[in-house]
Amino acid sequence: MNICEDQTPLDVKAFRAELHALYGALGEDVARLGPVCALSGRCCRFEEYGHTLFLSAPEAALLIADAPSPVRPLDQGASCPWQDARGHCTARDARPLGCRVYYCDPNYQPHAQDLSETFIARLKQVANKHGVPWQYAPLHWHLRRFAEAGTFPRNDENRTTEHNACAH
Ligand code: SF4
Repeated sequence: MNICEDQTPLDVKAFRAELHALYGALGEDVARLGPVCALSGRCCRFEEYGHTLFLSAPEAALLIADAPSPVRPLDQGASCPWQDARGHCTARDARPLGCRVYYCDPNYQPHAQDLSETFIARLKQVANKHGVPWQYAPLHWHLRRFAEAGTFPRNDENRTTEHNACAH
């Protein structure tokens, strides 16, 4: 179950394909710019590096629905529970837009804001089309809500998952 503000489950099936199409288009635009990823894992250690990952309710719902079980406990906001001990993302296919657009390559960073604005606007259109609440908020705000609703972490016993070794 994925929740919205009034605890109504979000139907991820309704917008999953559109989110993946949007993430794919963003990935192509990012690839054209060619940012360098040093696999430092800094992007997922929020407190240590002084940044916050914001995402919308539909992105959070997709993350919870499709990501494998987190590999570390939910903390108070210091780090992402899907970052493994090597600093790699274990939720790569379901990771939200902010994870896909962020790179610490200084030559790329001027482009990140423009890409974010463009794709967040498109994301809002998807949310509006499906009547999904926007709720743009830090990752841990979303995850605590799922935890309070008893849906984080999700029971993955019968799932096969693929863990991709990439800091992004
Ligand atoms: S890239 Fe993966 S590990 Fe890093 S913040 Fe995003 S979902 Fe979490």
